[in-house]
Amino acid sequence: MTEARGRADRPPARPGADLAPRVLIVEDEPALLRALRINLRARGYDVVTAVAGADALAEARRRPPDVVLLDLGLPDIDGGAVIRELRGWSAVPVIVLSGRAGSGDKIGALDAGADDYVTKPFDMEELLARLRAALRRGDQSPASTTFSIGAYEIDTAAHTIVRQRPRPGADGPDELHLTPTEWRLLEILLGAPGQLVSSDRLLGEVWGPGYERSTHYLRFHMAGLRRKLEDDPHRPRHLLTEPGMGYRYQP
Ligand code: CA
Repeated sequence: MTEARGRADRPPARPGADLAPRVLIVEDEPALLRALRINLRARGYDVVTAVAGADALAEARRRPPDVVLLDLGLPDIDGGAVIRELRGWSAVPVIVLSGRAGSGDKIGALDAGADDYVTKPFDMEELLARLRAALRRGDQSPASTTFSIGAYEIDTAAHTIVRQRPRPGADGPDELHLTPTEWRLLEILLGAPGQLVSSDRLLGEVWGPGYERSTHYLRFHMAGLRRKLEDDPHRPRHLLTEPGMGYRYQP
């Protein structure tokens, strides 16, 4: 049966839909863009493309992709800036296509919020495997907007934090209120359950460029979050510090 050929290569269907997953390819090199488009369409992906960072962001807003393949060296804005901007409102998996030899760019891209990277020139089959893996990871928490920390359940869509049980020692309010800064921090951490989020990324996304060294802001606001959410703020179980590196939300 020729129909079954290549089925193992088929991308997983989009969550909650029978539609093919949408891939946004951001690449300014025409030959590579063309090769990627042909290969991904042949594998059943819904492909949209952009050749510059600003176009990519506009396209991602207009038709939210399920995964993004992003070249770092773009003609207008740097790929890292594209990721930081995208991460302000989207958790879509991003795979960086890095043509640069140095590992500094890759680390920078991962810090900015990329999920994975491949170095050019890459093997198409390897890229496809990474694409499927990124989509599977994206599927695991498709629209997970509720999280629990200590006695509280957090709903990031509704922007509510409601107490589910009595809080040991100090009973807190039935509904917690966070400052906008605390919300932003918490949302970034909850968006990467179990993963280390670097201090640079948190500072860059919450306070903006130029604040990368202001780690005392982070310590202050993280302490505030722990005081409000953790059963024992001095022995946190969910909002963890990774000394010298960043923070982690441990579900
Ligand atoms: Ca390029």
